[in-house]
Amino acid sequence: MCEVDKAEALRRLEEEIRTCTRCRLHATRTHAVPGEGPYNAMVMFIGEAPGYYEDKQGKPFVGAAGRYLNKLLAQSGLRREEVYITNIVKCRPPKNRDPLPDEIQACEPFLDRQIELIDPRIIVTLGRFALHHFIPGASITRVHGQPRKIGKRLFFPVFHPAAGLYQPKWQPLLEEDFRKLGQLVQALRENPDSASYEQLSLFPENGEARGDTTQ
Ligand code: SF4
Repeated sequence: MCEVDKAEALRRLEEEIRTCTRCRLHATRTHAVPGEGPYNAMVMFIGEAPGYYEDKQGKPFVGAAGRYLNKLLAQSGLRREEVYITNIVKCRPPKNRDPLPDEIQACEPFLDRQIELIDPRIIVTLGRFALHHFIPGASITRVHGQPRKIGKRLFFPVFHPAAGLYQPKWQPLLEEDFRKLGQLVQALRENPDSASYEQLSLFPENGEARGDTTQ
């Protein structure tokens, strides 16, 4: 698919999400939040679900956690405009409850299509919920900040920015992980070939993981 077609396909997909009624969450949302960022982003961030402010504005990570994410991105040398940011489910669960399994199942094809279209080199999971979507059962306190290669992508788990806001003791860990992420992105830019890619993977491939398995 050419670049223009990819951009248009992503725009159409985002529009499809905005009008989706596949699960009960459509009835209580103000706006669906498809995601935001360029169609060819090297890095995709995936959180859990939109919150209050995201639901109001139809944009991901615009509340306090979003402002902290912006700060972490700046510290890592990444610009928000160059990364794609989305969530596992695209509509806010009432009272910010966890998304239910059938809601995740209904919404999952949208995330799969976003990953396929954007084809990011690195997927950063924000928090335990997003981590478990791709690597079930992994402990966020054990694997945060350690890239894991799954198929052709690197998965880079970090704590959710909201965790850093609610529990300041996590902030130094978050900041250190984002510093490592910045180094990883820089190294990939300088050495985009697969051999360097392997060397950059500091975390051994192991365990069962879902998601992209193409080589
Ligand atoms: S959460 Fe996903 S599946 Fe459910 S209505 Fe929103 S966009 Fe559709």
